[in-house]
Formats: sequence, structure tokens, C-alpha cells
Amino acid sequence: MIAENLRIVEEKIEAACRRAGRERPSVTLIAVSKTKPLEAVLEAAAAGQKDFGENKAQELKAKQDEIPASLGLRWHFIGNLQKNKVKYLVGRNILIHSVSSAELAHEIERLSEKREVITEVLAEVNIADEATKHGVDREGALALLTEMATLPHLHLRGLMAIAPPVEDPEENRKYFIALRELMDQVNASGLFPHPLTELSMGMSGDYEVAIEEGATFVRVGTAIFGERNYAI
Ligand SMILES: *Cc1c(COP(=O)(O)O)cnc(C)c1O
Repeated sequence: MIAENLRIVEEKIEAACRRAGRERPSVTLIAVSKTKPLEAVLEAAAAGQKDFGENKAQELKAKQDEIPASLGLRWHFIGNLQKNKVKYLVGRNILIHSVSSAELAHEIERLSEKREVITEVLAEVNIADEATKHGVDREGALALLTEMATLPHLHLRGLMAIAPPVEDPEENRKYFIALRELMDQVNASGLFPHPLTELSMGMSGDYEVAIEEGATFVRVGTAIFGERNYAI
């Protein structure tokens, strides 16, 4: 089931890349395994999947600890991160997609310095200005990024956004365009010595549109692993 779902998602990613005139390797598929058992991760890994995403720090750490390093999996933290959970992530080669405040950025900096690592991060932008979502709004983004630019143990690689749930994925195209334009604006400002290159956007319902608009990471859960059951 998981292998078949991965095959279908892969075909759609390839088609979206062709439509957009992009090379397939410019997009990384993150299989979002939150709430799913270790067996599901292993099944996806056996089918060739390398990148996995989790939204709870302890769940990510537990899965990462259980899985043999020889599989060469790469882990992404995509959830709302509390400061007291940063300790579960820093120093474990995890890309943190969801840095949404200067306070959180400083805590990641503090622990990264202590553990003598550089932590790769994305800044989360609340691109649709939804009250229920975390992340800074578009105006706040430049202030957050300016602050992050001063932190030597953070390597900011790009931006992340969670678009609203919609029936028609076309409704989210404007948000994906907005995130790309924000990254272009940051790069033009020269705030960072290196250009930002990563756009983490697009989920099961809208990843094809996100790829057409420049996503370099798509975060796909349901379309690979099936519906999540939060009751158990
Ligand atoms: C759960 C989650 C996803 C995956 O959502 P699906 O709709 O199941 O693909 C992607 N991004 C974030 C931040 C999530 O929390």
C-alpha cells in the first residue's frame, strides 16, 4: 500500500516538474510519518524513501533512535516547536522547518553552540495570515530573519509555510507565489551572505501546485500513509 502510494506521488511530482520546466532532483519529497508506527517508516524506506517528517520532537527522536543509521534516512522537524523541546532535536542532523520566533531561534542557537554544531533551519511564515497558524506574518518575517542572521550556529536555508486547507488546490497558488516572492526579496536584500534556496510548501492536497510555484520540499503525509487516527 505505502509503496504503491509512493509510486503514485512520485509520478505526480514528476509531472508537476515537467509542467514547470524543473528537474526532478530540485524537489525533495518528505514523507510525513507523524502518528504512524515505525513499521510504516520502514516500509516506506524499503520502497526507497529517504526523507521523513515529524511534528513532535520526542516522536521524531524515538523513531530516529530506533532506525538503523545504515538506512541513511534524513529527518525533518515540521511541527510547532516549544523551546523546552529544542533539546531533542539539536545535534541530530535534523532540518528544523518551523522556526517561528526570535526566542525560538535564540534557543536553537544556544544549544547548537553548547553542542558545537551548526543547525540547519527554515523560517516559518504565516503566509495566509491565519490566526490559528504559527509563524511570523509577512511583515514580521524580515525582522525575524534579520535577527536570525546574527546567530552564528544557525544556517538558515529558506522559508516554510503551511497553506490553509482548501477544496481546490488552485486557491493556494497565490500563497505559494507569495512565499517564493518573499524569498526573492530576502535574497535581493543581501541580509544573508549566502542566498536562501529552500521553499518548504505543499501537502497532500496541494503539493503539485506548490511544485509548479517553486517548492523544493513538499511535505506529504496522508497521500503516502493514509488517514491519521488521532484517537488512538
Ligand atoms: C501533517 C503535516 C503535513 C502533512 O499533511 P498531509 O495533508 O497529511 O499531507 C505537512 N506539513 C505539516 C506542517 C504537517 O503538520
